[in-house]
Amino acid sequence: MSGNSGGPIIDSHTHILPDSFRRDRDTYARRDRTFSKLFASPKAKIATGDELIESMDGAGVDRCVTLGYGWTDLSVAGESNDYLLEQAEEHPNRFIPFCSVNPTWGDDALNEIRRCAGRGARGVGELHPDSQGYQLSNAELLAPMMALARELDLVVLTHSSEPVGHQYPGKGSATPSELEAFLVAFPENKIVFAHFGGGLPFYALMPEVKDALKNCYFDTAAAPYLYDPEIYTKLIDLIGPRLIFGSDFPLIAQKRALEHLRAEAGTGIEMAASMSRGATQLFT
Ligand SMILES: [Zn+2]
Repeated sequence: MSGNSGGPIIDSHTHILPDSFRRDRDTYARRDRTFSKLFASPKAKIATGDELIESMDGAGVDRCVTLGYGWTDLSVAGESNDYLLEQAEEHPNRFIPFCSVNPTWGDDALNEIRRCAGRGARGVGELHPDSQGYQLSNAELLAPMMALARELDLVVLTHSSEPVGHQYPGKGSATPSELEAFLVAFPENKIVFAHFGGGLPFYALMPEVKDALKNCYFDTAAAPYLYDPEIYTKLIDLIGPRLIFGSDFPLIAQKRALEHLRAEAGTGIEMAASMSRGATQLFT
C-alpha cells in the first residue's frame, strides 16, 4: 500500500505526548480531566514522537497527523501542543501537527489556536466533546473557533461514537445526529470525523445527508475494535476518497491497523489509492 502501489500511506489519526506525561501520570491526571479519564490506568498506552517514528518505519507509514486530546486544562494543552509543534519541526516530512483546545475556553482557545497555527499547526483536534463539556450541536459555542479555523485554513478533527453496539471507555454522545447538526452549521469548514463518524456515512444514501457530507472526511481510527474489515470497501463505495486511513496509535499499533485494512482481500491497491488520495488532498 505504499509507493507505486497506492500512493503514500498517511496515518491521519495518531497521538503522541512528551515523556513527562508518562512519567508523572498522577500529576497530569490531577490537572486534566481528559487525561485522567484516558490515562489514569498505568496500562493505558502513551507514546513519544520517537516511538511513533519507530512504528512508522516498521509498518511502512510515510506521514502521520499527530493529534492532541480534548484537554480540559489550558496549561496541559499548551505543553502538549508545544511538543507536537517541536516534534514536527524535528521531523518535518513525517509529522503533520494539530493543536488541541477546549472551545469552552473562549478567547483563550482562539489565542492558543492562533499561536499554534503561527508555528505550523495544520489543524485542531482531537476534540472530545463529552469530557470537555459541550455538544457538537452547540453551534453558538463553536462558531468563533470554526470561523478561525476557516480563516487559517485549519482542519478540525473530532472524536465520534456509534449510537449502538458495545460499550467502551470513551464511547460518548458525539453520535451521527450530533455530527450532522455540526456539519449543517459549518458547511465551509474542513472537518474530519474520527472512528468512521460513528456510522454517519451509512446515511449517505439519503440525498440530504449525502449533500451535507460533501466537504467532510471520515477516518478509520480504532477500526479493529469496532468493525469487520469489510467496512472499508462498503464505505469507499458510499463516500469514495473521503474515507481516510487512521490508526489511533498508540491505542492500536499501526501494523495491526494496516493488517485489518489489508484483510479486505482483492481490492487492496485500489482501496489504498483511494484513501491515500483523500488524505493527500486534505493534508498536503
Ligand atoms: Zn477518538
